[in-house]
Amino acid sequence: MTFSLTILGATGSIGRSTADVVIAQRDAFRVEAVVGGRDALALAQVARRLGARFAALADESGGEALKEALSGTGIGSGAGQSAVLEAVEREADTVVAAISGTAGLAPTHAALKPGRRIALANKESLVCAGAAFMADVRRLCIDLLPVDSEHNALDHALAAGMNRDVEKAVITASGGPFRTWTRERIAGASAKEASAHPIWSMGSKINIDSATLMNKGLELIEAHHLFDLEADRLDVLVHPEAIVHGLVQWSDGAVTAGLALPDMKVPIANALRNERRLRMDLPRLDLAAIGRLSFDRPDEERFPCLSLAKAALKAGGAMPTILNAANEIAVAAYVADRIGFYDISEMVEAVCSTFSGRQLAAPETVAEALNIDEEARRAARQAVSAHDRTARL
Ligand code: NAD
Ligand code: MG
Repeated sequence: MTFSLTILGATGSIGRSTADVVIAQRDAFRVEAVVGGRDALALAQVARRLGARFAALADESGGEALKEALSGTGIGSGAGQSAVLEAVEREADTVVAAISGTAGLAPTHAALKPGRRIALANKESLVCAGAAFMADVRRLCIDLLPVDSEHNALDHALAAGMNRDVEKAVITASGGPFRTWTRERIAGASAKEASAHPIWSMGSKINIDSATLMNKGLELIEAHHLFDLEADRLDVLVHPEAIVHGLVQWSDGAVTAGLALPDMKVPIANALRNERRLRMDLPRLDLAAIGRLSFDRPDEERFPCLSLAKAALKAGGAMPTILNAANEIAVAAYVADRIGFYDISEMVEAVCSTFSGRQLAAPETVAEALNIDEEARRAARQAVSAHDRTARL
């Protein structure tokens, strides 16, 4: 049986790994549409490689280049938000949601169609609009499968029991490139150093989030929404080898864990499974060869973004939406070398505290979430201007 697939964020790190899985499973999948951000040639290349029927580029100005690159292939194309929506609307059994950042929320939300399966990589959708998004997932009977490796592992582990018997669900963090660095050294780190992840090869935004450990904080919020677990039943463990991705501790003391080699093709293939798991020709985990696995508690003094995200999860309401928006602006400013590493957490904290007195309720719709997101971005942009070191030169 062949399943049809649409890939949002097809030119990115998760998108390319998804393409590898699909190519390895030629008979199992047919690709309906692929969506990319700005790179028309890269999108045309992946559309050709996958034999997609339609390719949509979010950046309107790349439409002509995309059309030209696809001429003679029979692959339809379009550019701009309407083309992205057209791609999402086309009939597909599964949509892989792998756009980076909050830009992924609207297209991922538009992809929620009755009976569809969503393989979700875009964690920001759940951090920005978790309650509203999940309400629609339930209403439309969507099968939502997590691609994020920790959540994919937890999804398996949680199947061993019932939610009410979960004492703790733990996600692991490799610790990022600065795991062993002192606070002083981290303070002077460049975006290039922050992007040199020891284990995973990922997109630029998630790379920085991994260095600050904000990624783990966003993942706690993601886990809260995916698995209906409150903040005090969620935890983080540092695990540099990135073999154990998630653990569930049960009320009787038993622990169920999800393990795999750190290769995103494993959780992607898992999220794309049908009645049976796919048969993937990937290296197998050899624990005897690895010998030892190590674990540690996260250091929230050197990585304050993790405690900020935990606080936002505990505070609830619109605080995760605000944290996420402020973080995105701060990360972009850090990548542009406008602010320093610890300015990211300082700015996120400042923006969150500006809004904390208002005690905004959790957004009930995605549109409401995007309004709060925009307001928090404005506050964050002002905070960047105040911190901007290029402006001081
Ligand atoms: P990436 O930067 O490599 O790729 C992002 C993709 O989104 C690209 O195809 C880009 O063209 C597209 N895009 C960007 N803005 C867009 C827009 N406005 N409209 C349409 N498309 C747009 O990012 P990535 O590392 O592949 O991560 C994608 C998502 O998956 C993120 O939410 C990330 O947190 C999550 N994730 C990634 C990994 C990983 O290993 N890379 C692991 C777990 C979760
Ligand atoms: Mg992850």
